[in-house]
Amino acid sequence: MSCIATESLTECYRECRDRLVEAGLLIPLDVEGLYGFGGIFEEIIEGFERHVTLRGSHLNAEVMRFPAIMSRAHYLQTSHIDNFPNLLGSVHTFAGNDHDHLKLLAKRKQGDDWTTELTPTPIMMTPAACYPLYPTARGQLSGQGRTVDLRSFVFRHEPSIDPARMQIFRQREFVRLGTAEQALEHRDYWLELGREILNEVGLDAKPVVANDPFFGRAGRIMASAQKEQVLKFELVHAVASAEKPTAIASCNYHQNYFGNAFGIQAPDGTAAHTACIGFGLERIALALFMTHGFTPDSWPHQVKQVLGL
Ligand code: ZN
Repeated sequence: MSCIATESLTECYRECRDRLVEAGLLIPLDVEGLYGFGGIFEEIIEGFERHVTLRGSHLNAEVMRFPAIMSRAHYLQTSHIDNFPNLLGSVHTFAGNDHDHLKLLAKRKQGDDWTTELTPTPIMMTPAACYPLYPTARGQLSGQGRTVDLRSFVFRHEPSIDPARMQIFRQREFVRLGTAEQALEHRDYWLELGREILNEVGLDAKPVVANDPFFGRAGRIMASAQKEQVLKFELVHAVASAEKPTAIASCNYHQNYFGNAFGIQAPDGTAAHTACIGFGLERIALALFMTHGFTPDSWPHQVKQVLGL
């Protein structure tokens, strides 16, 4: 179902997106990378999440759910704005008086930029599901450390015609907070378990050493250091294009970065280390539709069973 070598990548993305829209799986919402989801699409996401819950149940993770927005002050305790300024989302509102309001409305009426009349709120869009967790974890961890199960919509400003590159999408994460050993063990364990989980729904995802899309010239150095230290793995699978596979999950070791930023300590008083696996739920659903077809009724028996269809 993925597209063939002769097409350009843009054509391939467009064709794939149009087919998904026509099938009612994605509902376009005017802006590139912004979609609603049809019932069948949601059923697949719910089925996959149930499967992940089941396969991770032996870890007895604490379940926590955070909204898609987070405190601006907490956001600024990370270096996200240094590394990914082009991806961030900031929430603004109108905070003026009657006079300012008239000014805003006049600007809007004249087709001028009325957004200059807005004021930032103490809120940012959540850039990754695990970000809101760390500020709540301040203090000293027990010897066991913590394992936390998260799911959230996250925002990344990267408008694209590639249906797998959405501006807001769901991440299901399992995060470990503890010593360096505990964090690394979690990352490596989930790299294998994540692969198995994807395999069980008929997705033969391949692990690759990866880097985050750090911004600018300094970012290139950050990206190659991240790769050199093998801090990030992605599990990739064909979605729109077989030649340019998409990351559908990622396993990250953050070292003591979040421990330092938010005052989270290991039992010995040093900054805690953290690691997470994130499943990109929309991307996994898209990979399933592109691999098994648009009608789940005709998917392989075993896949349907695993997803509870
Ligand atoms: Zn994470």
